[in-house]
Amino acid sequence: MTIPNVCINWCKRKATCKWCEQLIEAGGPMVTVFFWNKGADGHRWNVKLYYHPQCWVKQGLDYLKMNPYVPYVRKRKLELSKEDSKYRYILLRRKAALDQRKRNLKTEFPDRVLMEARIDAKIAGIMIEIVKVGGVPKKWANTES
Ligand SMILES: [Zn+2]
Repeated sequence: MTIPNVCINWCKRKATCKWCEQLIEAGGPMVTVFFWNKGADGHRWNVKLYYHPQCWVKQGLDYLKMNPYVPYVRKRKLELSKEDSKYRYILLRRKAALDQRKRNLKTEFPDRVLMEARIDAKIAGIMIEIVKVGGVPKKWANTES
């Protein structure tokens, strides 16, 4: 299992949005999701998906709707496999690091909004991932900004 890499950037070349299947114009904001796929034979190849930023959020919310919020209780942790527990731990650490980075953004940075959007997109990605390994911690739901 790998954490998909999510970033927001200016679209350099026209692409098709994975969610709405409409064109993403060059020069507009675009979310790129990059991850490694693994075939049954162990062969790995990378996958890149493109989204309008709003479509990325929509597909994320849609996913969460299908996987409703489950309060994380300690007992569930025991039910996770060793690999899943490790993955969950990595996700928790990553989220904490992103929160830290967000706090450290100086208001005077000219591209602060873009940087913040990038961090938020990454956090959204982590939230989607952590649903698979025990659910979103209650603490995260309260710190939405
Ligand atoms: Zn779209």
